[in-house]
Amino acid sequence: MIIKKGSENKLLNNNILAIESEAIKAKKEDSSVINSTTGMLKNEDGSLYVFDSVKKVIENLSNNEKFAYTDSLGTPTYKEAVLYSLFGNNISIIKKECYIDSIVTPGGSGGLNLVLSNYMDKGDTILLPNYMWENYLTYGVEMGFNSDTYHLFNKEGLFDIDFLINKINELKKKQNRITIIINDPCENPTGFCMKDEDYDALIEIAKSNPNNSFVFIMDVAYFDFYNTNQNIIRNRFTKFKNIPNNAIAFFVFSGSKSFGLYGLRVGALVALTHDKDEIKAFRNASNFSTRAKWSDSSTLGMSIIEKLVLNDEYRLSYENEIKNVCKMLEDRCVLFLDKAKEVNLITLPYEKGFFICIPCNNPKKVAEELHKDKVYLIPTTTCLRVALCTISKYEASILPKIIKECLNRMKE
Ligand code: PLP
Repeated sequence: MIIKKGSENKLLNNNILAIESEAIKAKKEDSSVINSTTGMLKNEDGSLYVFDSVKKVIENLSNNEKFAYTDSLGTPTYKEAVLYSLFGNNISIIKKECYIDSIVTPGGSGGLNLVLSNYMDKGDTILLPNYMWENYLTYGVEMGFNSDTYHLFNKEGLFDIDFLINKINELKKKQNRITIIINDPCENPTGFCMKDEDYDALIEIAKSNPNNSFVFIMDVAYFDFYNTNQNIIRNRFTKFKNIPNNAIAFFVFSGSKSFGLYGLRVGALVALTHDKDEIKAFRNASNFSTRAKWSDSSTLGMSIIEKLVLNDEYRLSYENEIKNVCKMLEDRCVLFLDKAKEVNLITLPYEKGFFICIPCNNPKKVAEELHKDKVYLIPTTTCLRVALCTISKYEASILPKIIKECLNRMKE
């Protein structure tokens, strides 16, 4: 074999996009197939949801704004747009009290790649939620680090901070730098959301362990769908301005989810710290890695986001659309959960977002069996993931019974 050692065994298990292709093919042959696979917003008729405000912005962009190369770290206006999106008007306080910078990346995936490649040593262990977007594991294999999991929620359905503290105490014996990925709000795959006090508790962990370094990677890909009052989540994110000097917080921003720009591959990695040298090191390392990995990100994607966030007229129309999308997701969720209750289908604690989870012992087998019922879902290691974002209200109302009957059939 000519392929280098270690690469010959790379095999993507559970490729969500491949399962989606299979579902699309099946639906072409039979329109009653339910495709509840990927995290893309779809209309009631199954077509891709495209924001009108995005379409309007694109119509008015110049050729340079669409196609030219730009600064590989992102233009100053793009940075401003990302920081405003995440923190709103709080950004001025943050800039007074901390050092903050934002780097454009090809989607949230690029942001994760960038932060993990510069903040994880080979052989180190990262802490991940026990119900997770399993792509995090792929980065570990690619970059040579290990992972362990913390419990996302306890028996009361609340963020399990005690479990996380125990895990950190265990990990401290092995390594100094503690890196944790937190996917919040609207966690993929559960739809679980943390609370204000959970963020306070995270910061407290770093404060009470001054001899360790803490890297908080906040994967906030779905934050726009948490609450139509954006200030609630922005104020929560702003809490990270209180991290101590032994910690750095990263925010992974996804243009795919926020603005429906999935295929354009645009996002950002934002770093926040109290240490001037740390932010400088972040910028330099990111600049270097960016050039080595993908050179430049999507100019078109950046231009769309800049205009949507910084132009009042576009922003207002986008904000109205987001409200409609949140309502659309809620309608589907209410129907799904009501019917789930009726048929005794257990779901994990869901609050908001694109996905709902059904715990089961053999998710892969169940997902395959469900193909016979013309249903395509994503199995994770621990559960079946229903993508509310892609199904109609009618499909949301019939799915629980189909899943429950399948689980019964398989004695799961
Ligand atoms: N983080 C989570 C939790 C996701 O579900 C996804 C995509 O599905 C991403 C990050 C990355 O998305 P993208 O690279 O398209 O921005």
